[in-house]
Amino acid sequence: MELGIISHLEINGQDMTDYIRTPEPWTLDHLVHVFAQTKSRPGPLTDEGERWMDRQQTGKVMVVCTCGYTSGLIDHAALEDTVAALATEHAPTLAGG
Ligand SMILES: [Zn+2]
Repeated sequence: MELGIISHLEINGQDMTDYIRTPEPWTLDHLVHVFAQTKSRPGPLTDEGERWMDRQQTGKVMVVCTCGYTSGLIDHAALEDTVAALATEHAPTLAGG
């Protein structure tokens, strides 16, 4: 006698089929982040003798995804095209799957 694949399991009248199903395979989550590169330096002394930091963007940005993708530093002008190109393959999966 040959047994087929078990497709239903009941224990003490309770449906336990979920326990014998093969779980779905894992897939990497995607969530794209953009980081702007900045630079800073101590500013001049104020009249009150305080010194603030001057900080500005360099014009370079880096696009990273939680799946491990990284663009490396790219020009800010290329950001829009880069993110648009990633939209399909790296569509967000963290918010509700
Ligand atoms: Zn990704």
